Amino acid sequence: MKHDIKITGLRARSVNVPLEYPVKTAVGTVATSPLVLIDLTTDAGTTGSAYVFTYTPLALKSVQKMVEDLAVVVTGMELAPVAIDQLLQSRFRLIGNTGIVRMATAGIDMAAWDALAKACNLPLVELLGGKARPLRAYDSHSMDGVELGTRRARGAAEAGFNAIKTKIGYSTLQEDISVVRAIREAVGSNVEIFVDYNQGLTVPEAIRRGRALEQEGIAWLEEPTLQHDYEGHASVRNALNVPVQMGENWCGTEDMGKALDARACDLCMPDLMKIGGVTGWLRASALAEQRGLPMSNHIFQEFSAHLLAVTPTRHWLERMDLAGPILEPVLAFKDGMAIFGDAPGAGIVWREDQVERFTV
Ligand SMILES: [Mg+2]
Repeated sequence: MKHDIKITGLRARSVNVPLEYPVKTAVGTVATSPLVLIDLTTDAGTTGSAYVFTYTPLALKSVQKMVEDLAVVVTGMELAPVAIDQLLQSRFRLIGNTGIVRMATAGIDMAAWDALAKACNLPLVELLGGKARPLRAYDSHSMDGVELGTRRARGAAEAGFNAIKTKIGYSTLQEDISVVRAIREAVGSNVEIFVDYNQGLTVPEAIRRGRALEQEGIAWLEEPTLQHDYEGHASVRNALNVPVQMGENWCGTEDMGKALDARACDLCMPDLMKIGGVTGWLRASALAEQRGLPMSNHIFQEFSAHLLAVTPTRHWLERMDLAGPILEPVLAFKDGMAIFGDAPGAGIVWREDQVERFTV
């Protein structure tokens, strides 16, 4: 068992990883996967590893620099993730722990938890008091149009997935309906279809389109309108029968709490980075449990699997493989379930040759 492990250093590297399919949304396209890779070294000889996703390559160097600058704060500290979180929260109280600061602090939190689990020779899920278990997983697609959308949906169904997500928000409702119908035709009636507007609609338009789409048997309607407009989401929710899903843009449980107070959603899906790393996720899962809210993840599928396994209201694991080319495989998908192993930590192992290849 570990005793008094100290942090000895922090390293950050930037990569820009190709994607099999660009992430097309109603409000913009992510063509490649810009990631900052974080390694936190300890005097126990174990290194904690995690990545954060910066959405645009424009933010890569700033996030990398922020992590590097925080090395002086955490080096020499005891490897105690909650204590580190509290220190970083207080350091950034005045500037605000949002944006690039949030990306860096959440990434350090994830790496610290990973290092601690490895020091205890436990998978992260077991360090948190749970057990690895198969998790219901859905395959997460883009705004792919009818042809690619149906091809990907059929491929996912053939691979055993029982649910898929497609991004919509085409210029007309009729186009949205055409894509959803084509996907339904491709996957049959036993596969759930989630749709994601990525904040693309006004409130009245979200209600108009939502009313039509609920006739198509969709299983959730995600971020129909601007993410910060919790009252707007509540209006959409009140007008519809289909469950409203949101949460990927909540910055910390302070945002999540406001959204839940506004009764903005039926389902929630915090983003591991924006919610504040592993420490933030655990707080979010307690809020979701209190409100009886089914909770899914947003990207970060490797860490999120460990966390969903200890989330009382766990719902779906999102399969969106943003780091696949630079990682040893962490998750396997079989019969619609995500399966993860019992390697110590969260299972993040860099493929160094590929990291070098995609280094920015
Ligand atoms: Mg989304």
